[in-house]
Amino acid sequence: APLLELDAVRIRHDGATRATPDGVSLAVRPGEVVLVLGPSGCGKSTLALALDGLVPHAVPAELDGTVSIAGLDSREHPVGVLSAHVAMVFQDPDAQVVTGTLLDEVCFGPENRLVPAEEVLARAERALKLVGLWDRRADNPDRLSGGGRQRLAIACALAMAAPVLVLDEPTANLDPAGIDEVYAVLRELASTRDHAIVLVEHNLDAAVDIVDRAVVLDADGRVAFDGPVREVLRDH
Ligand code: ADP
Ligand code: ADP
Repeated sequence: APLLELDAVRIRHDGATRATPDGVSLAVRPGEVVLVLGPSGCGKSTLALALDGLVPHAVPAELDGTVSIAGLDSREHPVGVLSAHVAMVFQDPDAQVVTGTLLDEVCFGPENRLVPAEEVLARAERALKLVGLWDRRADNPDRLSGGGRQRLAIACALAMAAPVLVLDEPTANLDPAGIDEVYAVLRELASTRDHAIVLVEHNLDAAVDIVDRAVVLDADGRVAFDGPVREVLRDH
């Protein structure tokens, strides 16, 4: 069964004149790595927020159609329940950094979900090792580079132990070194197949060798293509 399933999803932000995305249906299955592409303003970020359940709960917008997260209708379940199934990494890593050491940051999410302390620490160690920050666990996040802070944000998402990760342009605000660091982590994550990954990225070249499938939105927020990423490459 799909972990994420959108059926005829149409989202209109409060105050906006048109819906973006508009009529989007798609499914993401366990272990799949899916790229979401499309021109600026077509609704990629909004789609990511819907896949995560933040639309409709945290973002004031009108949602038509159905978003199922692990079989749960996102409209009918609070973000706290949906977050067991999907974790999100935003464009700006500082949006989710709280305070304290790197280890505190990574423990914060699962602690809030009342995961037992021993399990929290085990998850934090695994996640910080995967992103290459375990040796820096006692540092303050302020001391990390942009790429380091985004790797920390990925570790925070991993510590939630959700089967799906949604990343919204995770390298958009990074310098070339930071982009390479984050892609090295994403490549590793994608190869393990432990997670379904939805990656919003406008840079096809950066993402192409780690994704299986591409979903391309057109300027009106409709699905223009959904299939093997190689076919998108061929059309470019
Ligand atoms: P993308 O990520 O593809 O650039 P977005 O999902 O950010 O697209 O935005 C889709 C459309 O919705 C755009 O027209 C944008 O201006 C509009 N939009 C996004 N967020 C809001 C908001 N909070 N309020 C009103 N309109 C919004
Ligand atoms: P992206 O780089 O993902 O395309 P945008 O530049 O479209 O992001 O939007 C950046 C932020 O501004 C987002 O939080 C989005 O919700 C908000 N935003 C975008 N368009 C509008 C809008 N027309 N009105 C209000 N907020 C908007």
